[in-house]
Amino acid sequence: QTQFLSLSLQATMSRPVQARRLEGIDKNIWVEFVKLAATYSTVNLGQGFPDFPPPDFLKEAFVRALSGEDHLMHQYTRAFGHPPLVKILAQFYGKLLGQDLDPMTNVMVTVGAYQALFCCFQAFVDEGDEVIIIEPFFDCYEPMVKMAGGTPVFVPLRPEAPKDGKLMSSADWQLDPAELASKFSKRTKAIVLNSPNNPLGKVFSRGELELIADLCVKHDTLCISDEVYEWLVYDGKEHVRIASLQGMWDRTMMIGSAGKTFSATGWKVGWIVGPNRLLQHLRTVHQNSVYHCATAAQEAVARGFQRELELYGKADSYFVQLPGLLQQKRDWLVQSLDAVGMKPIIPEGTYFLVADISEFKSDVPDVPNSDEPYDSRFAKWMVKNKGLAAIPLSSFYCEAHKNTYSRFVRFCFAKEETTLKAASDILQKWKREKSSP
Ligand code: PMP
Repeated sequence: QTQFLSLSLQATMSRPVQARRLEGIDKNIWVEFVKLAATYSTVNLGQGFPDFPPPDFLKEAFVRALSGEDHLMHQYTRAFGHPPLVKILAQFYGKLLGQDLDPMTNVMVTVGAYQALFCCFQAFVDEGDEVIIIEPFFDCYEPMVKMAGGTPVFVPLRPEAPKDGKLMSSADWQLDPAELASKFSKRTKAIVLNSPNNPLGKVFSRGELELIADLCVKHDTLCISDEVYEWLVYDGKEHVRIASLQGMWDRTMMIGSAGKTFSATGWKVGWIVGPNRLLQHLRTVHQNSVYHCATAAQEAVARGFQRELELYGKADSYFVQLPGLLQQKRDWLVQSLDAVGMKPIIPEGTYFLVADISEFKSDVPDVPNSDEPYDSRFAKWMVKNKGLAAIPLSSFYCEAHKNTYSRFVRFCFAKEETTLKAASDILQKWKREKSSP
């Protein structure tokens, strides 16, 4: 017995175990900041999720799915999407895009938008392929491209401060057309578009999307269009779907998320809409990895979309009410940040807002030549010393560009009034302490 034990102790592995594709992608901002927020924060405006409940009709649909007579709700359903969900998604997006969609071949359900993205990169990116990513970007695009063997090529949105001294808007962050065009080459397999954009809240205009579309067509490039915040658009702005532009349907994967659409991020129901020519390859990745998504959650999301289709454009529609509610929260947070001198960049969409921390720099002095960007140290200091959690903007840039804009943090405003008020109280108190001798 003792001899056996000592042999097994000696038999520890010495060869490298980690696959090469994991090299350099082991760090994850969310793991780090979610832990910090859980340990220190009293007010968490960091990670992007609502602290208010999903609408009653959706919760009730989930409860009905689980407690009803149909015990098949507890079993596997169709691998590429529960039939009622793909049917209603085909109807809904067919109406939005103005074309007939086949539920079985033009829609695939995934475990959140995350898995939809993963399927896209695995299905289309080969060793040596380049994928254009617009900075700042939702951080998982970069490691996912690398894991597939591809090379991310970054192109930044460049800010231009308004001349009239007004607050900046996310619309003031724009692509330089010549710079964007210079990133396309024979090696470019795809571009990732995220409109409305996390973290800035930028809603790409029709003109900006046409610029991207023209380059995609010219260079025969795919477009992975992450539209998870499609309903969260403010001030009467229009969310334009790039798949609806000339020449784009055939090359676009349009990605959505019930997490953002119905304020239920924990359910992890996502989807991809696109041509069968592309989706057939996404099905290959899906059937050989995840295979199947939770049935009852899909059933409930299908019910939610059925309701929304009936109420489309009407005042009772959740897709009308949610942006109305969030616009008020945005305006409230903009006003309270501006009042303390943490200059907000007004987002046109999403439930995020980026703010300039320059006026608070004296409390968290810079460390020259530090590897860590200033905003990251600032966000850590703020959660530990003030109890307020936010995410540094540098997390949404590639390694080489992390120090380009390191004086901003991102706040999530999909929060109850009391949470936003508590955040504002912290900032006001901090401001008072700063200004008193
Ligand atoms: N894309 C973007 C831009 C996001 O912000 C998020 C979630 N934060 C996702 C995709 C992932 O969505 P899901 O929770 O549905 O996986």
